[in-house]
Amino acid sequence: MATLTKNDIKVTRTKNSKLSSIDFNNLAFGQVFSDHMLVCDYKDGKWQIPEIIPYSPITLDPSAKIFHYGQSIFEGMKAYKDTKEDVFMFRPMENVKRLNVSAKRLAIPEVPEDYFFEGLKALLEVEKDWIPTNEGSSLYIRPFIFASGKGFHASPADEYKFIICTAPSGAYFSGKVKVLIEEQYSRSANGGVGFAKAGGNYAGQFYPTQLAKAKGYQQVIWTDDTTHEFIEEAGAMNVFIRINDTLLTSPVSDRILDGITRKSILQLAEAEGIKTDVRKVKVSELVEASRNGSLKEMFGAGTAAVISPISGFGFRGEDFDIPELENTFASQLKNRIINIQTNKTEDPFGWRVKL
Ligand SMILES: *Cc1c(COP(=O)(O)O)cnc(C)c1O
Repeated sequence: MATLTKNDIKVTRTKNSKLSSIDFNNLAFGQVFSDHMLVCDYKDGKWQIPEIIPYSPITLDPSAKIFHYGQSIFEGMKAYKDTKEDVFMFRPMENVKRLNVSAKRLAIPEVPEDYFFEGLKALLEVEKDWIPTNEGSSLYIRPFIFASGKGFHASPADEYKFIICTAPSGAYFSGKVKVLIEEQYSRSANGGVGFAKAGGNYAGQFYPTQLAKAKGYQQVIWTDDTTHEFIEEAGAMNVFIRINDTLLTSPVSDRILDGITRKSILQLAEAEGIKTDVRKVKVSELVEASRNGSLKEMFGAGTAAVISPISGFGFRGEDFDIPELENTFASQLKNRIINIQTNKTEDPFGWRVKL
């Protein structure tokens, strides 16, 4: 099969652009959406040629399987514009590949890589003016697939929709977060779908996170579902722990999402001469390190915030504060990664992809 190119993608432009009504200096995260979206349907046993159409609501049959059996997966990525108005993506093929890893696990037909990548590039060409240039801002990109096929029979759907929407977003600053180490609820289990970016993984986290919020924490740190002894991840972010001068993070598994920010940080840290250790970390080790002063930093890593520093954690009714450091690995690595993403520095890793 010949590969799809940008020119194969039909573009229907909106007659009512919202662009002039957007205040690019006051952008929240993922609240306003650009004028167009890429839509690609799976029917008759194959993915149809994607199209770009005006951003609009979609109509679904009440029996569409997404509503009943939850076949839904997504990705999160960003596009950046430099001072010369050149547009860049960050390791986009990692997202293309991961979407299909998720698709396979949820019995969703895999999308041809060129449909995703050429479709994304065509969409970014159309939405170029929507990519913010203010410091720290970017165009957040949300590719997703869900079961649109009909029927109450509990089986994979015969029709799906793959859509890419974009949202201009300001610098994501949540402040430092206080986290609760969770021992009762689990986000994922061995053999489950924790490694997939499946919508249902989020639905299952909301209730325990609400309980943690009511106790004064902003996020939950999940532990392994069998023993609850080991630190896993933060639900939308992978977790890093600095003990003395070593940066630790859990290996990925069935239960932990293989974050692109996580693996970029590991590579960057090595290049910066920071010692890293990918191994399981016990909650008891974290508590001990906090008590003896060797716990220097903790942070979450994910596309939206890049790095979110953690100010402390709660465990079994006790709060452990992490003291403020002057020069943190978190800020050093965050700057390095953002400078690469926004074309402010060399990219020795070949991560940046120009549109
Ligand atoms: C998306 C996500 C992450 C972060 O992945 P990135 O590729 O770095 O954005 C981490 N954990 C979970 C559960 C996620 O869904």
